[in-house]
Amino acid sequence: MTRAFRRHRARRDDRSIAPLDGGTAMIIVSLAYVALSASGGWGRSPLSALPAVALAVAGALTAPASAVIATLFAFGAEAMGFFRDPSTTPSQLGLRIGVLALAAVAHNAITRFEVARVRRAAEKALDAERERQKEAAKSFRLVQAPSHQPHAPSEEGRRVRSGLEEIRESTAGLLELARRTLDLHTCAIYWLDAKGATLRLVEAVTDAGDIFSKEPIPVGAGAVGGVAAMTRPVVLAKLRPEYGGLTYYRGAHDAKAFAGVPIRDDHGGEELRGVVVADRAEDRPFEEHEQHALAALAQQALRLVRTERLFAAMEKSKDELAKMHRASRAIGDALTEDQVLEAVAESAKAFVEHDLCVIATFDESAKTHRVRFADGAGAEALAGKTFAHNKGIASAVIDSRHPAPYRGHYDPKTQVLFTREQPLEGMESALCLPLVVRDHSIGTLTLAAQRRGAFPDATRQLLSVLAGNAAVAISNAAAVKRLEELATTDPMTGLLNKRSLQDEFERRIKSAARFGKKLAVLVTDIDKFKNVNDTYGHSIGDVVIKGLGAVMTRCKRDTDAVARFGGEEFVLVCEETDTEGAYALAERIRTELEKTVFATEMGPLKVTCSLGVAEFPKDGANKEDLFSRADEALYEAKRGGRNRTCLAGRRSVASTPPAEPPAPVKQQRPQAQATRSSPVTAQPARTTARNDKKRIAG
Ligand code: GH3
Ligand code: MG
Ligand code: MG
Repeated sequence: MTRAFRRHRARRDDRSIAPLDGGTAMIIVSLAYVALSASGGWGRSPLSALPAVALAVAGALTAPASAVIATLFAFGAEAMGFFRDPSTTPSQLGLRIGVLALAAVAHNAITRFEVARVRRAAEKALDAERERQKEAAKSFRLVQAPSHQPHAPSEEGRRVRSGLEEIRESTAGLLELARRTLDLHTCAIYWLDAKGATLRLVEAVTDAGDIFSKEPIPVGAGAVGGVAAMTRPVVLAKLRPEYGGLTYYRGAHDAKAFAGVPIRDDHGGEELRGVVVADRAEDRPFEEHEQHALAALAQQALRLVRTERLFAAMEKSKDELAKMHRASRAIGDALTEDQVLEAVAESAKAFVEHDLCVIATFDESAKTHRVRFADGAGAEALAGKTFAHNKGIASAVIDSRHPAPYRGHYDPKTQVLFTREQPLEGMESALCLPLVVRDHSIGTLTLAAQRRGAFPDATRQLLSVLAGNAAVAISNAAAVKRLEELATTDPMTGLLNKRSLQDEFERRIKSAARFGKKLAVLVTDIDKFKNVNDTYGHSIGDVVIKGLGAVMTRCKRDTDAVARFGGEEFVLVCEETDTEGAYALAERIRTELEKTVFATEMGPLKVTCSLGVAEFPKDGANKEDLFSRADEALYEAKRGGRNRTCLAGRRSVASTPPAEPPAPVKQQRPQAQATRSSPVTAQPARTTARNDKKRIAG
């Protein structure tokens, strides 16, 4: 279906550029061969060059594919001629085929060359027209700054074009009216360019035909330039054809009387905007009432431009509001931090064309910036980088809460944006905006462009609003992320909490069951931890809990899930692990903790832990059973003397029993000593195990 459509389209395209179809090309070539054979045949006919000519003509008027087929057809006809006429030699056939091929190739080359030439000329003309429109738009102030997308068919471009069109059409009407009522030969309006150096033709009505020149007129040059230079009306009479002051004519002209009236904008402090030009072929000087009429025309033209400017500004605001609305929605709809960053960068693209976009967040306490998003030229070098709060522009923007650099001019050789090590090579403009939430800078949004003047004032204002939206959205997304983390992780150790481990455990056991894989669960509890709390205080107890968390994280594989299950108990779920592997891991954890020394005010502290291991599906076919077996094994380890690992279903598989009783040791403290020697009661550990079972089942 798709292919059929494509073929159909291709054929249509061929037809649109080639006046003849393939069939007609073949007919032309066939006719050439018929004529050749009728006039004496291959070798004897005076028309022997006819097929080559026919091929060149057919090739010129058909699509390339049809030309190739026609050429192959001609080759076939030549071969037939050769076989039918015994008087011809193979070298003659070779020569003829060579000539035909040459005709086809030469024609092809010429066509391509011609197409390229026409295309180049058209592009040049288009560029010139764009440039002219840009200049006109600037002089009428329909745009406030150099258009940032001069070649893109942007909305601004369309708006400006329609504004210019409107001005031309309306002024043409005014000029025609003046020409008829004042009996003029030429009536034209010139507008001063943005730099105030030249007058450019807006519109003219004239009987002068070809000799009327559309070239810009420098201020001060000739009669028109004089009106602009003096900003007062100029009237000339008794002009001769060779008088050169009327620079809007290319040479001798028919004008006998001339009047030029400045177009002055009294709103802008009597500023000159342009000149109304009138002349007539009759030698009758412009009288005062006629000059008044031209001055009225000048005012009317000015009003027209003002109205268009107002429309352009209104349209622009409307567009900007729409863009801002779209941006706000996109940013508001984003849920995660990454989505927010993407939406901000996407919206920035709609506001201003740029080559690099970087969003960094600022950590107030660590005094560091971290690049959270980078897209565009040189983005790879910046993505994910952290840099210090330094003397660079981004740091200054954070401190001052104001955009920088001034006017968006940037020189990578002399200015530092993020760090000296990461200059934004090749960028000539940059704009770094603060992301401010409740008077706090939480980061920066930086845009950079390889062209100069990419971020004019109007754009900066828009981007500041975008940055405000972005700041709130980024800070909200971060808050949501923190809440999510709180819901899934244990704040003390940063490991999974009990609830999320339950989900993780469930998921992994299902996966192990589906794929027939093994899985082991490992439960651990610090030995005689109450003593640690009682002797050293809760804060040291917390340090010890974190210490065991760190040991477990260090010993486990990346794919294992570890959680603080409550108090000083931890659970580890290991995929694709059997009893043997889990036992080795448990022993590694046990010995690592045993070796760990916690520095306290009361001297070094060491603790031990006991562990229970169970394997799926051998020891339990579901989450609850498996956990109960591991918990029972832990109880077994406690009962067996602590600081050891027990395996589910085995009464006394124990590690090397510790020489010392497993209790927090603080040699100097009599209290600790007393605790260490206090008898160990199995009951509390048993109770804990039962509680855990209940909790995991629920
Ligand atoms: P056993 O060897 O039988 O495990 O003895 P034990 O003293 O460690 O007994 P158990 O495991 O039942 O003790 C848990 C203690 O852990 C009780 C509680 O005071 C303490 N604990 C629970 N959560 C925290 C915590 O977040 N911080 C601190 N410092 N202590 C905690
Ligand atoms: Mg304990
Ligand atoms: Mg406990």
